[in-house]
Amino acid sequence: MHEWALSDSIAAAAQEVRQKQNLKNVAAVTVVLGEVQNIAAGVFKDIFDEVKKNYPGVESAKLIIETEPAKFECLKCGAQFGLDRSGLSHETNEAIHFLPETAKLYIKCPKCGSSDFKIIQGRGVFIKEISGEAPGPGGK
Ligand SMILES: [Zn+2]
Repeated sequence: MHEWALSDSIAAAAQEVRQKQNLKNVAAVTVVLGEVQNIAAGVFKDIFDEVKKNYPGVESAKLIIETEPAKFECLKCGAQFGLDRSGLSHETNEAIHFLPETAKLYIKCPKCGSSDFKIIQGRGVFIKEISGEAPGPGGK
């Protein structure tokens, strides 16, 4: 359940930004989740809603999750390609989501047919934006 650790570090980062920018409170945190990142967005959201209560000024922050599409690069021919889910079953999609390594069992380079590729995008988790309510005039 690394959603806990993730939520905690995001709430902490939001609080830090709030202090640095002297915001009244954090209104929203936009987090980008890679398509083949082992994070369940729904669980992550629920846990964040719990964790944020421990961070003053972040309690009312809304978590916005954006997905970054996966991108692969073939190690044989250098072709870059995305995750084509059209031919994949629901089970396979789930497997790739939670165990990105299994992608190699299902995905092949569309150009040369090799399953020797690396994931060059879509594995990361990062904070894209932290927005908050600025203090009113003279409210510093
Ligand atoms: Zn290839």
